[in-house]
Amino acid sequence: MNLKDNYQHTLAEIADACTRCGRNPADVHLIAVSKTHPVTLVDELAKLGQIDFGENRIAELAEKRAQLQSKPVQWHLIGQLQTNKVKLLDADTILHSLDRVSLSEKLAQRFAGESLRCLIQVNCSGEANKSGVLPEALPELCDHVAKHNELHVLGLMTMAENTEDENTVRRSFTLLRSLSEKVSAQKIFPQYAGWLSMGMSGDFRLAIAEGATHVRIGSAIFGHR
Ligand SMILES: *Cc1c(COP(=O)(O)O)cnc(C)c1O
Repeated sequence: MNLKDNYQHTLAEIADACTRCGRNPADVHLIAVSKTHPVTLVDELAKLGQIDFGENRIAELAEKRAQLQSKPVQWHLIGQLQTNKVKLLDADTILHSLDRVSLSEKLAQRFAGESLRCLIQVNCSGEANKSGVLPEALPELCDHVAKHNELHVLGLMTMAENTEDENTVRRSFTLLRSLSEKVSAQKIFPQYAGWLSMGMSGDFRLAIAEGATHVRIGSAIFGHR
């Protein structure tokens, strides 16, 4: 595995996907998903200029964050967060998995007097094993979250079905985009920036075609876990 080659190849693929749908590559941000991989690889990639890194477990993120404290790394928590682990989260990390009222309340307590940037995770595919709020329950969750000034909602996040069927995958991404347009039009989140965190190693080209602003890519860069 050559990290540098994989990284450059991934950046080129993102740029190519943008060109094909008439988007500016500067509008699509790569989050390198380093879960299960050693912090030395994160450091190596950071030296190549990568800034945004994602982890799906808060304990692992906190450990890597501590080890790379002096480095210009922006952390993203992309996995589910249990309320009893909210204390491990810091205000500089961007949370992609705000998915329920109880979590928003714990976060608001934890970050009282500060602020936390977050995305609301939506279960666009409706699969039972996926986390995220169901699309029909999103408006109600938004109303709750909007009561907490500490929570700066920037956009939405989703994971598509793990299938070869492009139409099915695309449908989840299209749905997230249209939900985000509705949230944006409601103007309930002052910091809302229309972020769409969607697309992984297997489906980021489709996600970019559907408007992704942040793609979360692990195995294509770091190799198999
Ligand atoms: C692991 C993970 C990714 C990256 O997946 P790859 O297929 O390795 O690119 C993206 N998003 C979430 C939420 C993940 O847990």
